[in-house]
Amino acid sequence: MKKNKGKVSLYYSHDIDEYIKALKEKTKKLKKIKFSSYKLKYKNGQFYFLRLASADIKPKDKILFIAAGIHGEETAGPLTILNKLKEIFSYARKNKVKLIIYPLCNPSGFSQMTRYNIDDDEGETGNNDYLRYEMADGTFKDDIKKSNNYKAWYWSSEITKNLPLETKIMHKILKKEPLTQVRALLDLHQDYISSVSLPFSYHYSFGKLGVYKDIIKNIKKIVPLYKNRMIDAGFCEVNKDGDRSHCLEEAMLSDKNGFVIRHDGTLPDLFYRLGTPYCITVETTGATPLQEAMAVNMVWIKGLIDLIKYESTK
Ligand SMILES: [Zn+2]
Repeated sequence: MKKNKGKVSLYYSHDIDEYIKALKEKTKKLKKIKFSSYKLKYKNGQFYFLRLASADIKPKDKILFIAAGIHGEETAGPLTILNKLKEIFSYARKNKVKLIIYPLCNPSGFSQMTRYNIDDDEGETGNNDYLRYEMADGTFKDDIKKSNNYKAWYWSSEITKNLPLETKIMHKILKKEPLTQVRALLDLHQDYISSVSLPFSYHYSFGKLGVYKDIIKNIKKIVPLYKNRMIDAGFCEVNKDGDRSHCLEEAMLSDKNGFVIRHDGTLPDLFYRLGTPYCITVETTGATPLQEAMAVNMVWIKGLIDLIKYESTK
């Protein structure tokens, strides 16, 4: 645990005011980072949605986009951004990659350590809701698993008004971003749902997964991969008695490197449909110590910057 001149360490803090204050201070010190905030007025309180970005994004620049904390209790993502801010921006700068970061996608959930927001609004399909598939028969789905059988896709905000406030505002802000310049999208999560009592890491992605070979090698040095396992986290309501037997039909098998391919309407799925080459959801199990979860997140952040850089030298 880092000590900061006798002050309580921010390392494990989910105090929202401390988090924002510390992030603002760090951003100011680093310079050339644009810090913006957007007001979120919930029924039960007011919070701020934050955005950080390289200050000098030009039309031909390549961008790594990082989102963290959409599920409020999964604090490793927001804490990675706060604690490793300097390292992240220095590494990106060195490799000529620009950054856009939404460090705290669900601020009220973060402050009270709950998956959903302070109004307990889950919307139609949870708050990681960005995409809808229209099927051949005209019905809409948010999850088509591995299949690519659909008629059309839409931003979910075009199909439903029933989105949690933080998701709604993200749709609005996202539409103003230079989306065609985003070469990699990283969505940082933790899995507190699967009943796994040991540290593990797994990931959702699409397309050719061989490009992540070096990243996988580096993750294995930190925690084991949750490979060849059935995973249903986030896709199954568990009964009050904890019975998960009915979840099996919702589950999907991870591959030998811990990847699950699932078109589940989440942020990475949206970016995949928008044409972003590298779209990743990072998961570390709840039993993974924070330091290790942050280390896994950093492997992805640096690894994706490397991939973007490599791509531009080709
Ligand atoms: Zn999550």
